[in-house]
Amino acid sequence: MLTEALKLLKKINDHSYDAYIVGGFVRDYILGIESNDIDINTNATPKQIREIFEDSCLPSEDYGSVTVIYKGIRFEITTFRKEITYINNRKPVEIEYINNLYEDLIRRDFTINTLCMNKEGKIIDMLDGRKDIDNKIINTVGDASAKLEEDALRILRAVRFATILDFKLSDDVINGIKKTKELLHNLSYYRKKEELDKIFTSPNYKNGIKLLLELGLDKELEIPNLSKVLDSNTSSLIGIWSILDVTSKYPFNKNELELIRDINYAIKLDQLNPINLYKYGLYVNSVAGEIKKEDIKVITETYAKLSIHSKKDIDIDSETIMKILDKAPGKYLKEIYDDIEEAILYGKLVNNKEEICEYIRKKY
Ligand code: ATP
Ligand code: MG
Repeated sequence: MLTEALKLLKKINDHSYDAYIVGGFVRDYILGIESNDIDINTNATPKQIREIFEDSCLPSEDYGSVTVIYKGIRFEITTFRKEITYINNRKPVEIEYINNLYEDLIRRDFTINTLCMNKEGKIIDMLDGRKDIDNKIINTVGDASAKLEEDALRILRAVRFATILDFKLSDDVINGIKKTKELLHNLSYYRKKEELDKIFTSPNYKNGIKLLLELGLDKELEIPNLSKVLDSNTSSLIGIWSILDVTSKYPFNKNELELIRDINYAIKLDQLNPINLYKYGLYVNSVAGEIKKEDIKVITETYAKLSIHSKKDIDIDSETIMKILDKAPGKYLKEIYDDIEEAILYGKLVNNKEEICEYIRKKY
């Protein structure tokens, strides 16, 4: 991937423009972390980049950058820019293209995200990013309060990088966050969730949650249950969101909403009861069990031992039931099925066609 990226830089250079790999990819490269998203910055305008790469450019959503598919890899190529004014502590309303790498770097969020690599693979470190990477520290480019106030998403990005990379926030960043954290209210729940998802899915998520709590961001993010996550055994994203219980504010898809609802319902029940295991399934019961710090091995074994796992496992069909009772189809079939199902799950009836027929003959 790096080889292709360097060839792409060379191609832009051959058209007499500057171009560098910048930001996350270089940071992760130094840390030995595999990264699959490469950002390039250049003094060529988006129009000039489109002229170089022609058909390989994807239609643009963002007018300041061009996405190019080069040798099968996707690159985000952004023109050196200054961001001028910000609305609602998030989106720059105006950008100005510039011809200067340094200026493009100082508008970025953290020093660790300002490193560049040129076409020879040489690292360019204009803002002391390397030192901060080596010391595992997150510093803003320039004054922290000003940087965070300009774009409040940076508050969450700081916590996200600290979590994922296992870095510390500098004192300046900590103080800046304390001063500006109310601005998180101006961000959309969608944006906040994107960052929180990245924090929660990190293997280091517990430290991320501790950091959010220490900084008092749980309150600003309107996730008052955050500390409860640390008291649980769940590391699953859906389990964490179930504990946070904020589906009326944060966006989830239909499937996630259903899972969160079921988990929060199943939590109130006994995870070893065969009916609950059968009804909500292994996944929901396991997550509920993790939240309650129960032994997942026992839940899994109990689930495996259930004599049936779904209606289709019941050793009888509607035709047979109708024949025994000499009746046309009707609502009664579902009632009988529910009854048999429960009797089998509680071990009162063996899941065997003859036994079930006998049970129906006697009872109905
Ligand atoms: P990753 O891709 O691993 O999430 P990244 O650092 O590459 O991390 P991106 O969101 O891909 O993050 O952004 C690319 C670069 O753009 C960053 O490295 C940083 O230099 C700059 N950047 C991104 N978001 C911001 C922001 N909100 N404010 C200032 N600079 C930013
Ligand atoms: Mg990136």
